[in-house]
Amino acid sequence: MGSMSEQQRQREHEIHSALQCSGLWHESAYINGRWCQNECTFPVNNPATGTQLGLVTALDKEQVDEAIEGAAHAFKTWRDMSAEARGDILNRWHTLILEHQDELARIMVLEQGKTLSEAQGEIAYGASFVHWFAEEGKRAYGETMPSHIPNAQLMTFREPIGVAALITPWNFPSAMITRKAAAAMAIGCTVIVKPAEETPFSALALAHLADMAGIPAGVFNVVTGEPKMIAEQLCHSTLVQALSFTGSTRVGRLLLSEAANGIKKCAMELGGNAPFIVLEQGDLNFAVQQAVAAKFQTSGQDCLAANRIFVPRAQYEGFLQRFSHLMAQLNVGDGLEANVDLGPLINRAAVEKAHQLVHDALDKGARLVAGYQPDDQSLFFMPTLLADITPEMRVYREENFCPVAGVIAYDSLDEVLTMSNDTEYGLAAYVYGDHLPSVWRCIHALNVGMVSVNSVKMTGHPIPFGGTKQSGLGREGSRHGFDDFSELKYCCLGNVYDTSP
Ligand code: ADP
Repeated sequence: MGSMSEQQRQREHEIHSALQCSGLWHESAYINGRWCQNECTFPVNNPATGTQLGLVTALDKEQVDEAIEGAAHAFKTWRDMSAEARGDILNRWHTLILEHQDELARIMVLEQGKTLSEAQGEIAYGASFVHWFAEEGKRAYGETMPSHIPNAQLMTFREPIGVAALITPWNFPSAMITRKAAAAMAIGCTVIVKPAEETPFSALALAHLADMAGIPAGVFNVVTGEPKMIAEQLCHSTLVQALSFTGSTRVGRLLLSEAANGIKKCAMELGGNAPFIVLEQGDLNFAVQQAVAAKFQTSGQDCLAANRIFVPRAQYEGFLQRFSHLMAQLNVGDGLEANVDLGPLINRAAVEKAHQLVHDALDKGARLVAGYQPDDQSLFFMPTLLADITPEMRVYREENFCPVAGVIAYDSLDEVLTMSNDTEYGLAAYVYGDHLPSVWRCIHALNVGMVSVNSVKMTGHPIPFGGTKQSGLGREGSRHGFDDFSELKYCCLGNVYDTSP
């Protein structure tokens, strides 16, 4: 992938201009139903070309406080609307997101770098949460309990918690917002979204459509700017009741300690170090093809990416050979071009980390099977296959977040399960094979929030997404997605019956 051609430059310019005309392109924050600016801005670049896409408002403290107050004010009326009425509005948002799928996807490719088909998939995936929660809000049931108190009725109500702060990452700039916001808003919360500084345009486009859908002022806000300051304002405000974060374990830890003072209800979707276990009995070709997909989607910048691939020793060399064959067919390039499978990494720091991971592994005895261009310092990182990785290496320990696949040979099911759990993370695991007792043993023994058997695709609106250990707290999607944005209120209604003779 060389420097940008004239043709590419022209196409990028045309797409950018068309998006600016579409009305979906905003460089101001969205607070209390209004677009807000100030003189302070930060640049956002296209990782594929380096072109500056725009200068986005960096809010000051007072403006962040304004968003918090607006959300707190809007909560008073939004919470009292019927779930049906809120659902109708959210369903209008869902329809508009799908109607603008192509433009939203192009915005995402420009700022994030993923391929157009991945971006289109993410918009549909993100929209599905809006529809799901719009409907599920009508079923946010409480319960009644047989009373232990004479002549009393006992019941619970599920009530919205209040204003929720949502801090989201750049790898899924749209779906990580809707997965949180739709649950929060459907149950009656109002939200303040703080998107990643690399990808604010997808969030602001969602705000534009929220406005068009008739979501009342103050219910959905997007604040942009300096993350630390904004997070502090949100965590320290007594008007904010919940914090939902998706991002690195490092930042999650910081936010948890910030939120501790105000005892905010916290949901944390943090890093992963997913094992991909190929079992002895099964279709090896299928496992290879799925391992490639589980590793390289979103250029490996996915918390569900297969981070460590375990293969039975007898099939090891065959697996490596087939994996490198499929890997060689992947095209790396600008996500807007046809036939591109992997876009660029998000920024220079991500590329430096990828090189460091490879060097560390090679220094400690890993075998470079295919890929890797040590002298290529561009953001287009070649898919790379490393064999014989060990627990001493960073590729084994850390969430790689880059297109470097690390493979390990194993000798017994006991060994592979011990190695799979030998990580501080516990988000997801993949198991491939058709020997049911072995599959079942894996499901039982893996210390993760999500196990996917013979399928790369595992996420979606009906399932509870989340991890164990340092992969986080809480679940998103499914009816459990309401838990982090609601409280159970218990009511004891005493002296219910007239007991006079
Ligand atoms: P990554 O390492 O994948 O970039 P981060 O965890 O750094 O992920 O970023 C996820 C989100 O956390 C982004 O919205 C980012 O702006 C925000 N963030 C980063 N650093 C801080 C911080 N010190 N305080 C609060 N939020 C932060």
